[in-house]
Amino acid sequence: MKIAKDCVVTLDYTLTDEDGEILDSSEGDGPLVYLHGHGDIVPGLERALAGHQSGDRIQADVGPEDGYGEWDEDLVEVVGKEDFDDPDELEIGAQFEVDTDEGVRVATIIEMEGDEITVDLNHPLAGMQLHFDVTVRDVRAASAEELAHGHVHEHPHA
Ligand code: ZN
Repeated sequence: MKIAKDCVVTLDYTLTDEDGEILDSSEGDGPLVYLHGHGDIVPGLERALAGHQSGDRIQADVGPEDGYGEWDEDLVEVVGKEDFDDPDELEIGAQFEVDTDEGVRVATIIEMEGDEITVDLNHPLAGMQLHFDVTVRDVRAASAEELAHGHVHEHPHA
């Protein structure tokens, strides 16, 4: 079966940056399972996978416009130390989830000066040239229930 809209696809993947540094991989977490055609994965990778089938290996180079977006200076904010639950735990590079108008975002602390903490709300992979090395492990049609919910059911849920 070929990958098309409304397929459930299982992938092994390694994600590297321009320098070949590994950013993420299915090796530790197990394969990625996603619903094709529903924006579950970045557009550049989704497009590269379309039409492939189980056993295929695909290399895809994905720029920010087809990946996690351009890095946006407006998403850098200075906040006060008192805004954090655990001010003692703060350090440069620390990441935490924050609720914003556009949903949950990952914030990264990029600067600390006294009580002023500079956080970057860009996606950690924003602005990056990404290289995916992907092997398709399985392709199946999504069930009616999965399509109704808009996500994959690997394990039954209430
Ligand atoms: Zn569901």
